[in-house]
Order: sequence, then C-alpha cells, then structure tokens
Amino acid sequence: MKKLVAVSTLALLLAGCNPGDQGAEDATKTEDTTKEKTDDTVAKEDKKTDAEVAKEKEAAEAKKEADAKAAADKKAAEDKAAADKKAADDKAAADKKAADDKAAEDKTTEDKTTDDKKDDGKTTSSQDPEPKTPSEPESETPDVDKSDTKADLGLGLLVVVNKKYSLPIDYKPSDLVVPDISFSYSGVLEQSYMRAPAAKQMEKMFAAAKADGVTLNAVSGFRSGQRQTVLYNNYVARDGKAAADQYSARPGHSEHQTGLVFDISAPSVGNGLTAELGNTKEGKWIANNAAKYGFIVRYDKGFQARTGYTYEPWHIRYVGVGPATQIKNNGQTLEEYMKVGH
Ligand SMILES: [Zn+2]
Repeated sequence: MKKLVAVSTLALLLAGCNPGDQGAEDATKTEDTTKEKTDDTVAKEDKKTDAEVAKEKEAAEAKKEADAKAAADKKAAEDKAAADKKAADDKAAADKKAADDKAAEDKTTEDKTTDDKKDDGKTTSSQDPEPKTPSEPESETPDVDKSDTKADLGLGLLVVVNKKYSLPIDYKPSDLVVPDISFSYSGVLEQSYMRAPAAKQMEKMFAAAKADGVTLNAVSGFRSGQRQTVLYNNYVARDGKAAADQYSARPGHSEHQTGLVFDISAPSVGNGLTAELGNTKEGKWIANNAAKYGFIVRYDKGFQARTGYTYEPWHIRYVGVGPATQIKNNGQTLEEYMKVGH
C-alpha cells in the first residue's frame, strides 16, 4: 500500500502535475506571455503608426502637392479659358467696332453722296442766268433776286425752300415719323424721318411699287438745320467756301429740312443717288407713278434753269395728290406752280 502511494507521487512528479504552485506559476507565465505579446503588439502597432504617420504625412504632402498642382492647373485652365474668352470678346468687340466704323464710314459716304447730289443747287450751270458770287449776301436784301428770303411756312405742304427761300435753322416739323418702308440701311437715324402726312403716302407708294415688282429703298429724309450747318461747315473747312457751295446747300436752304422730302433709290443702282436711276425700271416707275401718291420729282430732267438744280431722279417732294398731279401734267416746277422765284 505505501509503495502504491509512492508510485503515485512519483508518477505525479514525473508527470509534473502539481496542481499547486506549478499551476499558478504556469498561469502567471502564460499571462506574462500574453502581456508580453500584447506589449509587443502595442509596440508593433506603435511602430506601424509611426510608419503610417510618416507615410500618411508623405501621402498627405504628396496629395497636397498634387492638389496644389491640380488647383494650379485648374487655375491655369481657367485663366486660359478666361484669356481665350477675353480674346474672343476683344476680337468680337474689335470686329463689331470695325463693322460699326465701316457702317459709319458708309453712312458718311452716303451722307456725302446725298449732299453732293441732293443739294447741288449751288452749282451754277451755263443755263443759269444768275452767276453766283462766292460771297452771297447773308442779310436779306429785297432787291437782290437770290437774297436769302424767309420761306413761307404758312403754305403748309406747299412751302417752297430753295436757294432763295430758306427756313430758320432751328425749324423742325413737329409731326416727324419714320415711314414703314424699306431703307437702304439698318437702324433709325435723323434722316429716317419724314412728316406724317407724307410718310403715310410714302408707305402706299412703296407698297404699290412692290406690287408692280419694283423694289425701292429709302435713303435720306429729314435733315435738321443744325446738321446741315455742321455738314456745310465741314465742307467749307475741307474744300473752301466756293467749292463747298458747288455741292452743298447752305444751312436753312436744304429742302430736306421741310420733312417733306425723301431721297429714294433702288438696289439695281446700289441704292446710289445717281442720275443713272432715271434710266432704270425703278426710276421710270417713280417718274410715272409718284404723283398718284402726292410726290413730284422735284428736280426733273431739263429743269435746271428753272430750279437751279441738276437732274435728281431720286429726290421726291410731297405736295399732295392734287398739286402733284397738276404739276406733273403741266410739266411745271414747284416754283412755277407756286409762282415764286428760285
Ligand atoms: Zn434730296
């Protein structure tokens, strides 16, 4: 029996199965190991964190740099877009300005042409019995045939304005309107206007022409005394008074200031104010039909000695249907019809 116990104890010892201290020691060891492992992990983790932080920092810096570059690129792209847009805008503006300048130049040319042609009443032809002197008296001198005499506005639609009769510089009709007809230019200018009764008849006449397959374009209507003054003075400054008087009406002497006149032309002659218009289908239509609407070709062919103006098939003057028909049928000038001088 004692032997058995001893064997048992030995066996136990051999087996190392001491459920006492040994077990506690083992447990502690295990715990330590775990702790050590944990510390190790923590350390490892700490290490990783440092590396990651460094990495992340690097990545962040790289990202920052990339972002900065992207931002810079974006800004550059935006700047370029803005620059491109500005360049495009500038070009558009420049183009527009060039177009405007050209339009202004064209208009100036047109005005000049209009002046040249329309108000060439200062041209003294060989048929004109009254030689003009460079210094025409500015004051009213009753005994001088070509003196500057006040036009009689009381005559209404039959007012006569010519080399002899002038309007006050500040005279401007109160019933100016823009007729609803086609013009040789776009936009509305001072010269687009005409007195209402005449404008209404212009609309009828243009519609009738169109119905007959005739295309007309309005070029120049009302012109203020102020504008005529500016134009005339510019011509005098450029060419001298004597020369200016050959192609431009003096202020107050342009019939366009009455608001009863329109220079009209046709695409067939480039909307020009040219005697050539008289030979075209359109010019002939005007000569044959204008009176039906109350207009006369004010400076007709062969009228120069009686009006002081050369042939202007484009310059039509409103006088009303009755007077226009009579004037046309009698082959008269407005001065002859009104029994006044020119
Ligand atoms: Zn005219």
